[in-house]
Amino acid sequence: MQTPTDVAAQANGWCDSGGWLAWARCCPSPNVGPRPDGTLVDLIVIHSISLPPGCYGGPEVEQLFTNQLDWDAHPYFQAIRGLKVSSHFFVRRDGELLQFVALGARAWHAGDSRWRGRDNCNNHSVGIELEGLEGDHFEPAQYATLARLCAAIATHLPIAHIAGHEHIAPGRKHDPGAGFDWAALQRALGWAETCFPPFDRPAHVGT
Ligand SMILES: [Zn+2]
Repeated sequence: MQTPTDVAAQANGWCDSGGWLAWARCCPSPNVGPRPDGTLVDLIVIHSISLPPGCYGGPEVEQLFTNQLDWDAHPYFQAIRGLKVSSHFFVRRDGELLQFVALGARAWHAGDSRWRGRDNCNNHSVGIELEGLEGDHFEPAQYATLARLCAAIATHLPIAHIAGHEHIAPGRKHDPGAGFDWAALQRALGWAETCFPPFDRPAHVGT
């Protein structure tokens, strides 16, 4: 039976109050767990991934996040054999959106991490993977989907911050890297600059 909370969520593009997005392709991952009771989920973490690295458009990332990747299909996969990971979302180069984990659940994307004084960011964050190579550029269609997605997530959770994996695990992780345009995302969302990690901003003329 639908609750008023479900109806409110549906008005913002969600299937119901459980945190599955109606306009994302639903690919449930077994790599998921409960968030600790009472956790304030206020962080979005941006990642980049492609499998094999630099190859776009294939099913491998979806297969990895659903434990269906054939580890023997490519030499690179030996380096990640047995890895069990997930993210809430994956944005393909053409802007297609896949969802693996409901917002209410804990995905396995951050690893050892810390942001704004809080450890273990998987507990209190939503993970978004962009199809790409760390350090390389991302497509306009991906920024469009990402901005729409972040805005939708903020209707469901009290999001206060966005950071890259490189920011919450400095030295250990480097994604999404220098090719990700934080200023473009900030402009598209219209959120305060304090919501974002420090990034280079164009100098203001005359100030
Ligand atoms: Zn990452």
